[in-house]
Amino acid sequence: MKLLLQTDSVQKVKGIGPKMAGRLALLGITTVGDLLYHLPRAYRDYSEIFPIAALRNDMDVTISGRVVNITERRPRARLSILSVTVEDASGVMELIYFNQPYRKNKFYKGMPLLAHGRVKLAYGRWQMNNAEVEFLAPGETPEGTLKPVYPLTDGIRANALAEWIATALRETTDITDTLPREVRQRRGYGARREALYAVHLPESQDAFKSIREELAFDELFYMQLGILRMRKKRETSAIGIKCAPNGRLFTSLYNHLPYRLTNDQEKALVDICDDMEGMHPMRRLVQGDVGSGKTVVAALAMAKAVENGYQAVMMAPTEILAIQHEESLRELFADTPIRLGCLTGRMTATEKEKLLNLLANGEIDVVVGTHALIEENVDFSALGLVITDEQHRFGVRQRMILERKGTEQPHTLVMTATPIPRTMALSVYGDLDVSLIREMPPGRKPVKTYAVKRNQQKKVYRFLADEMTKGHQIYVVCPLVEESVKLDAKAAVQVYEEMSRHFSEFGVGLVYGSMKSGEKQEAMEAFASAKIHMLVATSVVEVGVNVPNATVMYIDGAERFGLSQLHQLRGRVGRGEAQSYCILMSDSRNETAQLRLKLMETIQDGFELAEKDLLMRGAGELFGYRQHGLPDLKVADLVRDLPLLLEAREEAARYVDADDPLLDAELQRRFGEKYLEVLYH
Ligand code: ADP
Ligand code: MG
Repeated sequence: MKLLLQTDSVQKVKGIGPKMAGRLALLGITTVGDLLYHLPRAYRDYSEIFPIAALRNDMDVTISGRVVNITERRPRARLSILSVTVEDASGVMELIYFNQPYRKNKFYKGMPLLAHGRVKLAYGRWQMNNAEVEFLAPGETPEGTLKPVYPLTDGIRANALAEWIATALRETTDITDTLPREVRQRRGYGARREALYAVHLPESQDAFKSIREELAFDELFYMQLGILRMRKKRETSAIGIKCAPNGRLFTSLYNHLPYRLTNDQEKALVDICDDMEGMHPMRRLVQGDVGSGKTVVAALAMAKAVENGYQAVMMAPTEILAIQHEESLRELFADTPIRLGCLTGRMTATEKEKLLNLLANGEIDVVVGTHALIEENVDFSALGLVITDEQHRFGVRQRMILERKGTEQPHTLVMTATPIPRTMALSVYGDLDVSLIREMPPGRKPVKTYAVKRNQQKKVYRFLADEMTKGHQIYVVCPLVEESVKLDAKAAVQVYEEMSRHFSEFGVGLVYGSMKSGEKQEAMEAFASAKIHMLVATSVVEVGVNVPNATVMYIDGAERFGLSQLHQLRGRVGRGEAQSYCILMSDSRNETAQLRLKLMETIQDGFELAEKDLLMRGAGELFGYRQHGLPDLKVADLVRDLPLLLEAREEAARYVDADDPLLDAELQRRFGEKYLEVLYH
């Protein structure tokens, strides 16, 4: 039977029925193409299967044997030990699994298998902890060759998968080279069909390395080409709202600021004004560390929009932050005629309706708010500037919905405090121009940071009491409980109760994510107005709050946060005159965890920390790459493959204007609907 790569379902492959197709779907495999591009995560050399009798301590080996016994022990509550005895012609050994009782059912007596792992001699017997196991069919014996190890899921046997892939390879007729021919030539890539053969039916591991590079390059090339084309489209076709040079409103606001802008703020502002006065809609990212003063820059941009007869909107990721922005803007705009509004989920229906009317009639110039702003019933009379703060919490889609509320294409400004490493700037934010604010407003003192252990808790508590006695305020951030919102709240309440008891002579407040928004706001206000001295919080305080009298950020369970997140939290203090402190409490004995906390003690610069964070954690989870609407990267790794990304970008740049149906088809396939929306509307 002949198979087609893109259009045929895996069910057309011999041996795959509806049941297996369902299981494959869990691996993201639905078409024949998905199957062929399901790459091994490693290779195992089965020519080197070890006889049990020849094992030595600490060897990393594969053994081949037969299950002779399965026992499960529960020596104490919450500990289960599964032990599977395996025998080969030369001896016996034990596979041990801790707290994985569900594995028990996967073994049966007499079952042939391969086990891979590190061996140890314990109580006179060979043991392998958490061995990787490959189940063989009865009578099946492993051949002495290099064998791909695929990512699997329950109910799919490795050998069956390998066989399906081999069948698909033989019978698929349209395995084509997706990169343009000249690119393949320049990079020395061979035919794709041969490359896939080399991956799935390998003769050497080197073949895999080169095809991995090719496939990663392929993904990065199309990602970059898509981004570059979108950018080009914006630069050449969309007509922007052309603003006049700075006039009275802008200038008077600028001249009456309570401080002088830093050089970097000044530069960002010039970039923004140039963009807004230009022919095309602005699309700019302002990236500046916590406390670098992005709000005032945004305020001036908004004044510029208003001065030109347009409205401006600023969207924040949380209600607390939206309200803080409103307060800062109210102060900045105090002596101007700018009419300000704030839209959040907390408002009553009548309040909301009133605001929406004012907005639609153009009787409000600037509106700040939360996600509530992107709801359908929010209309503007003349939206000219869209600002999103802390962008990494929003997806491209949300930003676009907001932009569509303008009758013309509004200017957009994205502000983020999360330093964006180079790979991200080139991918997720690849279609934006960037202004950097690296310089801090004058007079900021570095926050003294200490990583401490539980046995120093008494001392730490004494220090907290001292600070509060001096009239300063303190944030206490609770250990992060990721599994559930409920547990998170519970942990916070517990810490709150402990702190209230221990610091009974001071006012202690509590705020956590799932709290009712009114209560949340109340607690924040009590803290901001110094009615309470200590605020116990889950990481909701992370984003943007400003209480200059707070001098201590005490983070319990600090090892559970990423470096960037710790840095954001630390940025909540050090906003006033007094020396501020960040105390990182951790019980973890894990070396990496300790090392990360030590980095916090010495590094104050958010950019430097972000780079370190990225290296230590990998790119995937960090910025929500997915939600930005870019094509899936199955092979490429944005951190590891930065050099390749740069090369791919260079190649892609040659094809921005190319009129080539192959390229168009590939772009559409990979970016999907969103790409079409942006490019052709
Ligand atoms: P972020 O960049 O984190 O959003 P903010 O805009 O909240 O920072 O600014 C932090 C604080 O710094 C605010 O209290 C603001 O008034 C103050 N600030 C901003 N720019 C300057 C400046 N050039 N000189 C002195 N203080 C400034
Ligand atoms: Mg801010």
